[in-house]
Amino acid sequence: MGDRVKMNVPIVEIDGDEMTRVIWAWVKEILLEPFVELKTEYYDLGLEERERTKDLVTIDAAEAVKEFGVGVKCATITPNEERVREYGLSEMYKSPNGTIRAILDGTVFRAPILAGGIVPYIPNWKHPITIARHAYGDVYKNAEFLAAAGDKGELVLTAADGNKRRLKIKTFEESGGIVQGVHNTDASIESFARACMNYALDTKQDLWFATKDTISKTYDRRFRDIFDKVFDAEYKVKFEAGGIVYMYTLIDDAVARVIRSDGGFIWACKNYDGDVMSDMVATAFGSLAMMTSVLVSPQGFFEFEAAHGTVQKHYYRHVKGETTSTNPVAIIFAWTGALKKRAGLDGLTELSAFSERLEAAVLDTIASGVMTGDLYALSMIEEKRQVGTREFLENVAKRL
Ligand code: NAP
Ligand code: MG
Repeated sequence: MGDRVKMNVPIVEIDGDEMTRVIWAWVKEILLEPFVELKTEYYDLGLEERERTKDLVTIDAAEAVKEFGVGVKCATITPNEERVREYGLSEMYKSPNGTIRAILDGTVFRAPILAGGIVPYIPNWKHPITIARHAYGDVYKNAEFLAAAGDKGELVLTAADGNKRRLKIKTFEESGGIVQGVHNTDASIESFARACMNYALDTKQDLWFATKDTISKTYDRRFRDIFDKVFDAEYKVKFEAGGIVYMYTLIDDAVARVIRSDGGFIWACKNYDGDVMSDMVATAFGSLAMMTSVLVSPQGFFEFEAAHGTVQKHYYRHVKGETTSTNPVAIIFAWTGALKKRAGLDGLTELSAFSERLEAAVLDTIASGVMTGDLYALSMIEEKRQVGTREFLENVAKRL
């Protein structure tokens, strides 16, 4: 074996739970450490360590991403009542991703990995479509009531000096019904706009944004206006220089254009639109196990991960000693994403070339017919073979 590729500044490595934790170690052992002198700042967010540190380790990990700039994260369990019992937890700790997102004030971008022989359900989609989801406010932080017949629904805004503004929503006459109040903040929308525009520049892709501002003339209009303001003041010149375009359109029109497109752009979505559309896009491109996710903060910190969870059912089979055919591709691409970002920041051309070679080796392995079970079920390749996770990784290593 020749000299391994060198690194300079470490990547913040955030370990996790269950099957993805097992695969995490295998990816390092089989695909990274033999080729790269890996430098990482290691944080263990496995549930046992979160319990031992009363979840402080999650905050430390997020702070480390702020310090070093680039992190890579394994999937982690978000505890519910079952998990509290299973792991004997003293608290129902919050979602680590939620904690990290709040500290980095980030926007999440999700993009599918396209592999030969896996054909999207929309045949004209030739390039990935990246969904940027605004992860704050709207219906996710709502206040709502059931109303009875005879109730009057009003919107009341109380100013700092006590002055009140009122709007009638609805007088429920014959029938009861429902009312809801939602909000967002200028600051959060501005960060979202900046994160999207930075990411568009970074990945050299056009940016699309859409709302329902013809109907919601104040609320949705505010999103549109803030995006316009941020774009004109800070990004217009940079986009022109980068040869990319920012386009605003109505959400209905955006959906029609997305379906007709050949992909290769970023679609910025309000919170609810992003929740729904990211599942639609992931499914239409093939498999959740082929979806990457990156958290980008407005200050330019990056945290890469696979979009899927800890693949619990496969883990229980693994613990019983069975060989599982769990797909490691999105985990590998989280690592290559982080390594490429680090390489770009530190000017390490060999590290960047290695990451590209690793991604190509993964895609070539799948295109040659060697794949995990989830892809086996989808692949159009005739001479295909389903392999276990480790065997898949060893096949990729052979190509490297
Ligand atoms: P999941 O782990 O994504 O798995 C759901 C199902 O999708 C699996 O049972 C499996 O289907 C399939 N799948 C997902 N990833 C796969 C892969 N790499 N290879 C092959 N198949 C794959 O979601 P979940 O079961 O809802 O959640 C499990 C745990 O993950 C939960 O504790 C949740 O809190 C956590 N979670 C963490 C994150 C994160 O940290 N980012 C995200 C989501 C969920 P089959 O069983 O049919 O093979
Ligand atoms: Mg969803």
